[in-house]
Amino acid sequence: MRYELMLPHQLRRAIAEGWPAILPVGVLEYHGEHLALGMDTLAVVKAAELLEKEADLVLLPPFYYGAASYAVEKPEMNGSLHVDAERLVPFARDLFRALLRVGFRNLHFFIHHQTENFAFGMPTDLAFRLAARQAVFELVETQRGEGWWGDAKMADYYAKNASGDDPFGWIKGHPLLDQEAMRTYPFDHAGQGETSLMMALCPEAVDMGRFSAAAWYARSAEKASPELGAEGRELILGHMRRVLGLATAPR
Ligand SMILES: [Zn+2]
Repeated sequence: MRYELMLPHQLRRAIAEGWPAILPVGVLEYHGEHLALGMDTLAVVKAAELLEKEADLVLLPPFYYGAASYAVEKPEMNGSLHVDAERLVPFARDLFRALLRVGFRNLHFFIHHQTENFAFGMPTDLAFRLAARQAVFELVETQRGEGWWGDAKMADYYAKNASGDDPFGWIKGHPLLDQEAMRTYPFDHAGQGETSLMMALCPEAVDMGRFSAAAWYARSAEKASPELGAEGRELILGHMRRVLGLATAPR
């Protein structure tokens, strides 16, 4: 269900039953002349919308205003919007605090921007990851007091940790394309991979009539196709179902 459309009784049921809640996180960034500025975020939103139709989950409104960086193009007349990670941390911490207070304990943010080395991190995902950890530490310390982790009640921490069933599992961050998907699907910026994905997930965000091969990173978009995009979409949905613990039944 979409969070903004939920009635309180629906929200209470979702929380009581531990439904996963998805927060799409992304940026607005120049993606060549043929792709929409919202590509990175739209990819997450559109995939999450497909999952929302098939499974019991909560889809939160997306956050578009991440740290795009101006590494690809200067922003003037090109459209990239960059908000520094230092500003994202307090915002994201407040947002996670609020979501935890509502009662969510199965929160997942997904991001596609600059995620080719997700284990090392990039400013937007690092900001949201740090904020998530801070919000969890704060809530647990407020509820259980200092020394909560060393308390005898926590003796099963490492066992629970292995199953992801500990406080630090309440909020998890994931790349849209995981390492496994990247082995078979091209990861790029505005190239064949991203353009194909948009053709399959959000055709109104692509206009190949505007394609220009001037930028090296966009050149491979010439080989983009909705068929390849559909393969990427299925890899993404499979990965999302796995990390969200959803049934893997095909649509
Ligand atoms: Zn992109």
